[in-house]
Amino acid sequence: MKNRIFATLLTFICAVTTLFAQVERPKLVVGLVVDQMRYDYLYRFADRYGDDGFKRLLREGFSCENTIIPYIPTYTAIGHSTIYTGSVPSIHGIAGNDWIIQATGQAMYCTQDDSVKTVGASGKVGQQSPKNLLASTITDELKLATNFQSKVIGIAIKDRGGILPAGHFADAAYWFDSKSGNWVSSTYYMQKLPDWVNKFNKLKLAEKYLKQDWNTLYPIETYKNSIQDDNEYEGKWAGEKSPTFPRKTSELMKDIGLELIKTTPQGNTFTLDFAKAAIEAEKLGNNPTGHTDFLCISLSSTDYVGHRYSLSAVEIEDTYLRLDRDIADLLNYLDKTIGKGNYTFFLTADHAASYNPRYYTDQKGNGGYLFLRQIQRELNDELTKKIWSQGLDKKGIQLSGTPQPQLDRFVKSRRTSR
Ligand SMILES: [Zn+2]
Repeated sequence: MKNRIFATLLTFICAVTTLFAQVERPKLVVGLVVDQMRYDYLYRFADRYGDDGFKRLLREGFSCENTIIPYIPTYTAIGHSTIYTGSVPSIHGIAGNDWIIQATGQAMYCTQDDSVKTVGASGKVGQQSPKNLLASTITDELKLATNFQSKVIGIAIKDRGGILPAGHFADAAYWFDSKSGNWVSSTYYMQKLPDWVNKFNKLKLAEKYLKQDWNTLYPIETYKNSIQDDNEYEGKWAGEKSPTFPRKTSELMKDIGLELIKTTPQGNTFTLDFAKAAIEAEKLGNNPTGHTDFLCISLSSTDYVGHRYSLSAVEIEDTYLRLDRDIADLLNYLDKTIGKGNYTFFLTADHAASYNPRYYTDQKGNGGYLFLRQIQRELNDELTKKIWSQGLDKKGIQLSGTPQPQLDRFVKSRRTSR
């Protein structure tokens, strides 16, 4: 029996070795996470996808269906951590976008790190790192395997979308600070922004994109995979009469500021512009040591658009038609700069989204809302009653005043984008 196991093991090792000898390593791996992209979007809007975007990925690549790592809740920070570690919150430690540290009762943001400073802007926007991520990422393993000679960079409008995938050993992670309009980083990675980032920031592309307004790519009456543009399931911006196209971002930005770029498809284009600048300036995929580099991109705007307009909206259909073009453009760029067949590209999502509950019930579906504040109130009342009835706190110490329910702080710290 022992001998048979050994023989089997040996055969396996030989097979793997032969495989490695025959396969050339890619010069660059590009991971593209599309925040809140549902699997069915690959097909739902496919009637007007071009040949070189999503359809090229499906045609030339593999579609890994029913590939499931089960965990809850499906939030951005957890999704990105799970994709890149292959692990689950109980092991990789990223249990939400925010959580409470039970020992102290303190609120913690997933990538919060008060020991580091902002690079590229002022304020706390850059006080972040992957220190809360307990497991190693595929990008970490690449760094270890190549004696840290591979270059790894993470890029996303959302801090957590860039930081967590790039892992602990990343050369850099960049995210967008809407206050300054800059792509920023933290002293965890560097002491100052590289020249190419400063140069890119000076282009003020977010402002330029917003000045162009958001009109639909095709005549609006041709959008057949969404409900009518003027509907009650969408959020309006202050100053908008109706939640309809054209969305006058040039006007809205005067009040909202550059934050608005996040909730437009141009936010994706803007992110990919920056990713291309990174490939060029950092010579990603052209490593002098011959090792594989890794670029982790996450597109956050799909999530912001989904939250504001919900998934039945023309805004979603238009965002994905534009994203299809952006992906085609990126692949074309990679073909030219890295070379066709020299890079590995994957696309996935950190989580999806469900239909607007009211839209769903209006269509006679069964569903509804979870009223968190009401649940919080009831839970607090119940807990307070129980704790007071015993007269002791959790550690068995006599209570001297009204306990401050930790849930209050948790709900306050929740961010609108998940
Ligand atoms: Zn997300």
